[in-house]
Amino acid sequence: MEEMEAKAQGRRRFLGGLAGSVGLAGVPGLAAAASEPVIRKPGRDAYDVIVIGAGFAGLAASRDLAKSGLSLLLLEARNRIGGRTFTSAYQGKKIELGGTWIHWSQPYVWNEITRYGLGIEESPGAAAETVSWISGGKLHNGKAGPVWEKIAKAMERFCNVDGQGGREVLPLAHDPLFRKEALARWDALSLQDRLDALHLNRETRDLLSPQLSINCHNELAQAGFADMLRWWSLGDFDMNRMFDKLGRYKIREGMGELAARMLADCGCDVALSEPVAAVTRHEDGSVVTTAKGATYRARAVVMAVPLNVLKNIRMTPEPSAGKQKMAADGHTGRGTKCYIHIKQKVGNWMGMAPHPSPITLTWTEQQRDDGTLLVCFGPPGLLDITDEEAVQTALRTLLPKAEVLGVTGYQWDVDPYSRGTWCWYRPGQLTGGLQELRRAEQGVFMAGSDQAEGWRGFVDGALESGITAARDVRAYLKGRA
Ligand SMILES: Cc1cc2nc3c(=O)[nH]c(=O)nc-3n(C[C@H](O)[C@H](O)[C@H](O)COP(=O)(O)OP(=O)(O)OC[C@H]3O[C@@H](n4cnc5c(N)ncnc54)[C@H](O)[C@@H]3O)c2cc1C
Repeated sequence: MEEMEAKAQGRRRFLGGLAGSVGLAGVPGLAAAASEPVIRKPGRDAYDVIVIGAGFAGLAASRDLAKSGLSLLLLEARNRIGGRTFTSAYQGKKIELGGTWIHWSQPYVWNEITRYGLGIEESPGAAAETVSWISGGKLHNGKAGPVWEKIAKAMERFCNVDGQGGREVLPLAHDPLFRKEALARWDALSLQDRLDALHLNRETRDLLSPQLSINCHNELAQAGFADMLRWWSLGDFDMNRMFDKLGRYKIREGMGELAARMLADCGCDVALSEPVAAVTRHEDGSVVTTAKGATYRARAVVMAVPLNVLKNIRMTPEPSAGKQKMAADGHTGRGTKCYIHIKQKVGNWMGMAPHPSPITLTWTEQQRDDGTLLVCFGPPGLLDITDEEAVQTALRTLLPKAEVLGVTGYQWDVDPYSRGTWCWYRPGQLTGGLQELRRAEQGVFMAGSDQAEGWRGFVDGALESGITAARDVRAYLKGRA
């Protein structure tokens, strides 16, 4: 397992647990500052509830269920909690390798920040002063304001499917299927279909394309258009507000600290490095078997694993055909995220390039005494973040003089317990698959950001789904008492 994590992080040596990263160029990092998680090992073989997966969905479900007085076992495949969030450090400064940005308008995450007394801080480049962008194959540089205005107008047009800026089709962001029939028409389209249909001029298309590509973290042809309407609705139908919610503020103490505090609050049994291989449902409960051969029984099970690896847990009897299809197709989020340390001081800068550039979007994350640390995103398969030279070549299309001093990141797509990044649905999945994916079957409940109703694909969605699953499990067990 440690080898797998090291491979995913592209590191030359592994520091273990919640320890920090070693830059891909061999620049050593420091251990992250999260509290050590409190681990109480399994003390029995039968529980009221077993939760599979210690990401934020599993942590929220575990805490709420354990606090109701139910006996609970949390089984986690990796040797750390937090799932697709992973707080680490680069040369002594905290970085987030996975989920990073949050916002006070994300109700579930803000509740946790308040509950555990955490703070927020801002990413400087998210309010960039200068931008570089590629259009018509040429590099352009300028002040951010006017360029951002063009992008905002283009996005408004892209999402205006009803003459009301998308407000008719997806009026309630936390109830995305409120106008399911109206949405289904648009859900049949990919982002690429919608882009082609608008016949935008070259410059507008080249400015809009990076935004769409980072959102779905893949090729536009793979990604459903309906999820863009959903983000637009979550972002109050406004580009600036949407971007502020997606990429500006982060938890000062780090995602790892929030995860550790939630686990400490659970007071439940926990087994790390214990991947679940199978769940067998019976009339009176389920038997959960781990890859190491341990078996545990529970009256109810919460599956809180990512959609892209759900199919790796053998379910008997088989889950519904709808769930199997969603698990087989998976979501599109499979691209790259990495941090690039460059020698140049570029200020609060953002760079963007249309698909199929290996770097879609990159911006200043830390202004340092010895240069700049950029955070950088791209589609899958186009940039090997373990190859510093390749990263430098790609970055020079946007910053021709960039001298790369170090690169660090985590290869979420390689990791067998995520096989991807944040969730973005394919065409048809929102109106055709979400409801069935969420449905509990005979004491097995589904949780996870990838099937949340509101901020699906975000930490907020993970918390929402965990809290919802806990509520449903409590009602189910009460009904069977
Ligand atoms: C690079 C990246 C950037 C992101 N940026 C943001 C952002 O800025 N803001 C934001 O809000 N969100 C962001 N996200 C998304 C966010 O991190 C996720 O949506 C959220 O953390 C998912 O939580 P979860 O609990 O649903 O799933 P996960 O966090 O994936 O947790 C699932 C857990 O299940 C475990 N598991 C898997 N298989 C098994 C098995 N067989 N047995 C036992 N355990 C298993 C996994 O190891 C994992 O710990 C980002 C994600 C990535 C990867």
